[in-house]
Amino acid sequence: MRGVVWLRRDLRLQDQPALTAACAECDEVIPLFVFDDPILRAQQLGSPCVTFMVSCLAELAGALADHGRALQWRRGNYLEEVVRFVADVKADVVYWNRDYEPVGILRDRKVQQALIAQNVAVRTFKAHVVFEAEEIRGSTGNPLQRYSAYRTRWWAKWHAATPSPLLAPSKLRGARAGASAPRIALPTVEDLGYQTVPLWITPGEQEAQRRLRWFLDGPVHSYATGRNLPAIDGTSKLSPHFRFGTLSVRTAVHAALGTLAAGGPVSRRDLLTWIDELIWREFFQQILSAFPQVASGPFRGKDALPRPRPAGAKWNRLYAAWCEGQTGYPLVDAGMRQLNQTGWMHNRVRMVVASFLIKDLRIEWQSGERYFMQQLIDADLAANNGNWQWAAATGTDSMPGYRIFNPMLQSKKFDPEGAYIRQYVPELAAVPMDRIHAPHLMRPDEQALAGCRIGRNYPAPIVDHQQARDEYLALGKQLVRK
Ligand SMILES: Cc1cc2nc3c(=O)[nH]c(=O)nc-3n(C[C@H](O)[C@H](O)[C@H](O)COP(=O)(O)OP(=O)(O)OC[C@H]3O[C@@H](n4cnc5c(N)ncnc54)[C@H](O)[C@@H]3O)c2cc1C
Repeated sequence: MRGVVWLRRDLRLQDQPALTAACAECDEVIPLFVFDDPILRAQQLGSPCVTFMVSCLAELAGALADHGRALQWRRGNYLEEVVRFVADVKADVVYWNRDYEPVGILRDRKVQQALIAQNVAVRTFKAHVVFEAEEIRGSTGNPLQRYSAYRTRWWAKWHAATPSPLLAPSKLRGARAGASAPRIALPTVEDLGYQTVPLWITPGEQEAQRRLRWFLDGPVHSYATGRNLPAIDGTSKLSPHFRFGTLSVRTAVHAALGTLAAGGPVSRRDLLTWIDELIWREFFQQILSAFPQVASGPFRGKDALPRPRPAGAKWNRLYAAWCEGQTGYPLVDAGMRQLNQTGWMHNRVRMVVASFLIKDLRIEWQSGERYFMQQLIDADLAANNGNWQWAAATGTDSMPGYRIFNPMLQSKKFDPEGAYIRQYVPELAAVPMDRIHAPHLMRPDEQALAGCRIGRNYPAPIVDHQQARDEYLALGKQLVRK
């Protein structure tokens, strides 16, 4: 039997259910990747994501070649390309790991129907999450909308039947013993219509495994506090690896719990806090698959929240300042510049810049969501949409509508010495610690001493936080009265 494994967001050999099943069931296994032109043309993802993906694919192609199989790739419309390829190689069965984005679900359904119509069998697997939406339901059988309830059930399910990761197949079926396959040339990022950007997080399965070990050997043991401090390397930075599947989340949970079981100086609280974040990831995945309408608008609360500012010159000016990191609020600006320079932003700062855009600038959250999708190396519809809706108070389980982060207090609390700010906003490098969180309060002599003239070297605040906050709350109160 000849099987095609259609690879998508699962660019790994370890714990790769579709590949493992194909190797167990077929005499010959052919790995395939399709560069989907309509998706590439839509430009919903940006160059950081595409650069990361192409680099991961190159590593995977090398690993497959070492296993004796060349990765095959096609470019065009996924439906035509997959069906044509399967007919060309006369495959009997096609294997893939399931996707939960609305567009992915539709795509897979169409391909499945077309293959079945040609008498080709289809086998699909769970790989992107530990538990799929249908596996974790409330007592009435409905999807859970509250994270805390979801988390409780997630753990109950884990303890009831702990799923184990699969080993990488030692050899791909159909490969000649001891022979490497020829290395294939993949399209470049430029061929795909994007620009290669320097990658600040190293791509590939091997690096994902190395990074996981590094994280579990050190930073995870102070994660509960370290995860809030943007100036330190306190989080795993595995998000693009989970996004493109160079690391399976099941492997990550096992490895984390394994360090607990092994004993030694391990902090249970910190480890479990980290696994909580992985459960948040799954929570948003299941929200997207159970309520696909969130991809195109608010889940709730649209009419109970202050209306965003109308389009116009002021909107353009405020939005541009936010995107460029020129708001006059150092933590917001450091975050946006970190995003623009590296394709990644610290989670605490993502929350602050999101609150600032929505509540201080009163710009609709969808503009921030789109900008993040373009810039992030880990851009993921479920996590991005879920978190933006959380910040906007329109999600299933959200930040309370009238909680507004004060960017100066957040900065004092989580970047007390301003180390993160100084790294990404170099014009503030010499500003003393007691002024770094609100440099516009410096007197002229202080500005001269710090080599930073407000309004010339660094902007004055584009809105007054206190006034913006009061206005937002007043607008909210008017809605409650109506
Ligand atoms: C406005 C906003 C937009 C976001 N957009 C994305 C996005 O497009 N893609 C993305 O992967 N994450 C997104 N996040 C979540 C979070 O910021 C990143 O996952 C995290 O910063 C990645 O860094 P890390 O790998 O070091 O995380 P760690 O702290 O090491 O966490 C481990 C993993 O858990 C998952 N995770 C952590 N926090 C969250 C969270 N709040 N929601 C969902 N999953 C989480 C990620 O897969 C992460 O790699 C967003 C958060 C906010 C506030």
